[in-house]
Amino acid sequence: MKACIVTGGASGIGLATTRVLLDEGWKVAVCDRDESALCEAARALASANVSWHRVDITNEASVQAMVAQIVTRDGGIAGLVNSAGIGIAKRFFDTSANDMRRMFEINVVGSFIVAKAAAIAMRDAGQRGAIVNLTSTAGQRGNLERSAYGSAKGAVIVLTQVMAVELASIGIRVNAVSPGPVATPLVDAMHTPEMRTRWTALTPQHRYAQPHEIATAIAFLLDDVKAGFITGHVLNVDGGLLGAGLME
Ligand code: NAD
Repeated sequence: MKACIVTGGASGIGLATTRVLLDEGWKVAVCDRDESALCEAARALASANVSWHRVDITNEASVQAMVAQIVTRDGGIAGLVNSAGIGIAKRFFDTSANDMRRMFEINVVGSFIVAKAAAIAMRDAGQRGAIVNLTSTAGQRGNLERSAYGSAKGAVIVLTQVMAVELASIGIRVNAVSPGPVATPLVDAMHTPEMRTRWTALTPQHRYAQPHEIATAIAFLLDDVKAGFITGHVLNVDGGLLGAGLME
C-alpha cells in the first residue's frame, strides 16, 4: 500500500482528497496546523489507513520530523498533495507588505518546504513519486483583489514547472491543479455575496465546484498508470472559467 501526504488535509479540498485516496487504496498521512479540524476529521473518517499530524508547513524542522516518521511507519512516501493554503481578498492599495509576506510564507514557502522534504525521501528510497500542488485560476489571470493571493499562486505554478524539470530524471512527477471557486471553508470566509454572484455568472457551468470534484482530478495526477507521462502540467478544474471569453 503506497503512502501519500496531504497537507491541509483536515478541511475542504484536502479532506475530500484524503477520502478519495483512501477509496483508491492509498495510505494517507494528513498534515494540518488546525488541531480541532484534525480531531473532527479523524472522528469523521475513522480509518486505520490514515495518520494525523499536527504540523505547520512553514516550520521546516517539524515538516522534516513528520516526513521521517511517515517513512518509518509506512516504508516510504509515494505521493504528496500540497493543499494547505490561505486566501485573502484585498484591493491593491489596501494590501500591506505583511499581507503579501503571509501569502507567500504559507502558499509558496510552506509548499516548497513540504515538497522538498518529501522529494528527498522519495529520492533517498530510490522510489518513484508524484507531487500535486494547489494553485488557482487567480494565479493565472489578472483579477480584482488578488494581488497577494494571485501572485503567490502564480509562483506555485513556476515552482511546479521547475520541480517537474529537475525531478523528472529521478522518477518524480510534479503537477498542479488549478481550481476555480470551490465550496470550502476558505471560500466561505473570503467570498462576499456580491463576489459569489459575480463568480457564478463568470463561470460557464454557473456554479461553484464541490471539493470532491477537485479531489478526483488530484487523484488522477497522482496515479502513475493513468498519468505516468504527465508532468509540469497545470490542470484547470474550473467549470470553464479560464476557457471563457466574453459572455453575456
Ligand atoms: P480550507 O481552508 O478549507 O483548507 C485549508 C487547510 O489548510 C485548513 O485546514 C488549514 O488549517 C490548513 N492550513 C493553512 N495553513 C497551514 C499551515 N501553515 N500549515 C498546515 N496547515 C495549514 O481551504 P481549501 O478551499 O480546501 O483550499 C485548499 C487549497 O486549494 C489552498 O491552497 C487554496 O489556495 C486552493 N484553492 C482553493 C480554491 C477554493 O475556491 N476553495 C480555489 C483555488 C485554489
